Parts: sequence; structure tokens; C-alpha cells
Amino acid sequence: MEYNQKRSWILNISLRIFLLTTIGFAIYIYLDGKRPCEVPTVYSLGAFDTRFNISKSDFLGEIEKAENVWEKAIGKNLFEHDSKSKEKNSFEEYFDKYIGQYFTRQVITINLIYDDRQKNSEQNRLLVSQIDTTKMSADSVKQEFQALQVGFKKASEEYQILLNEYKKRRGSYETLEAKRLEVNSLADRINALVRKYNSIVGSINSVVQTVNRTAGKEFEEGEYVRDASGERINIYEFGSRDILVRVMAHELGHALGLEHNDNPASIMYYLNTSKNIVPTEEDVGELRGICSISQ
Ligand SMILES: [Zn+2]
Repeated sequence: MEYNQKRSWILNISLRIFLLTTIGFAIYIYLDGKRPCEVPTVYSLGAFDTRFNISKSDFLGEIEKAENVWEKAIGKNLFEHDSKSKEKNSFEEYFDKYIGQYFTRQVITINLIYDDRQKNSEQNRLLVSQIDTTKMSADSVKQEFQALQVGFKKASEEYQILLNEYKKRRGSYETLEAKRLEVNSLADRINALVRKYNSIVGSINSVVQTVNRTAGKEFEEGEYVRDASGERINIYEFGSRDILVRVMAHELGHALGLEHNDNPASIMYYLNTSKNIVPTEEDVGELRGICSISQ
């Protein structure tokens, strides 16, 4: 009798453990399959370098714009900023890392890291503005050149008239000689301007080449990393706020599980050359696939 009681007690416990495990596993499978479309991915700010000259709140504002790129496309809340992540105690951190993430969220850390990339991009912006001023001076040289050309044509015609007069022995040699010198000096000034113009254009071209060589066109401005220490997005450079939103949207896309696609206008194209900030058909199609939304 006693033996049987003990046996049923053990069975009872085993059954409970089995049931709990099965339910837990089912919930895990359910939520895992639903992520990241049913459970918003939570992100928090990690490293934040002030040399980018952007405030934390502005940076968060740009992230929100990048979130909207995807959220508006499928009408779901996909990302949420974890504003209190900094005040988490060690239990909460432990809970989020090992248990909480399966039920409520994935936590992505977004880092703003200053290195050569941003330095180069700042330098390039300076070079581009230099190109603009140089172009302006090239234009003014061109205008000067055009005005001199008009003067040169007029002086040449006058010289021709004086020469004809002189041949008919009607004009003075001094007047003719003075006009000849005037025409020559105008020609010299024109030639000097042409050389100046060419050298300006040459220097513009070399600066343009430098900019093209060093500008980070590939999405190297940021990266999405998922490894043993968790998930993170690192941002290394952005030339403007619009570019930042685009880079951020691209990396958030990777966080959602999106791969690169072949449309150059896509957010998920491998090069960051387009200015388009609206997801293309290819972008949205893949996201719908991930979220199991029919097309
Ligand atoms: Zn990418």
C-alpha cells in the first residue's frame, strides 16, 4: 500500500513536470515563430560618442524615423525603445537575458561608435564644400574670360580698321601700334585666364576623385551583429541625418531577419546610394514573408 502511494506520487510529479515542460516549450515555439512581428524588438542605447555632434534625444528621434520605415509598411509595432534599460538591476538583467526575452522581447543595443569612418566622412563633406567654392571661382573666371573675349573681338576689329587706314596712308603709325599692343595684351590676359580655368577644373576633378574613393558607399556606416553576447547595431558614420535614418532602417531590417535584395532603391540593397526612404516592393515582400502576412 505504502509502495503504491509513493509510486503514484512520483508519477504525479513526473506528469506535472512533463506537462509544464510541454506547455513551456509550446509557448516558446509559438512566440519564437511569431517574433519579430508579434513581439516588438526592444532596443536600448549603448555606447554613445558625442563627437558625432548629435544629442541622445535627436539620435533616438532618428531611430524612431527608421523604425517607422518598417512599421508603417506593414502596420505593426516592430520596435520599442527601452528607456529604462539603464536603471535595470542585476535580477532584471538576468531575467531579460535568460527568460524574459522568450516572452516579451529581444533586446538590441544600438551603439554610436566614432572612428576613421566618420572622420573620413566629415573630411569628405569639407572637400565637397571646397568643390562648391572652387566651382564658383571657376565660374567667375569663365565670366571674366567671356568679357575679355568681347573686348578682344572689338579691339581686333578696331585694329583691322586702323591697319586699312594706315595702308591708305591716312592714320598715324602710333595709333596703329597702340592698338596692336592693346590687342596683344588682351590676348595674353585671355590665355592666362584659360590656364587658370583649366587648373581650377583640374583641381576640382582631383578632389572629386578623392571624395569618390573615400566615400563609404557600401553599408559600412553601420552593422547588425548577432553573436553569443547578444544582438547589437553599431553605427560608425553618417554624412547627414537622412543618411543616418537610412543606415538605421537598413540595420533594423537585418535585425528583423531581412536579407539584401537586388533593387538599388531598396532599403535592403547592399549599397547605400539611393536617397529613397520608402521600402520597395522587394523590401516589403520579404518582411511580409517573415511576418507570414499574405501578399
Ligand atoms: Zn546590409
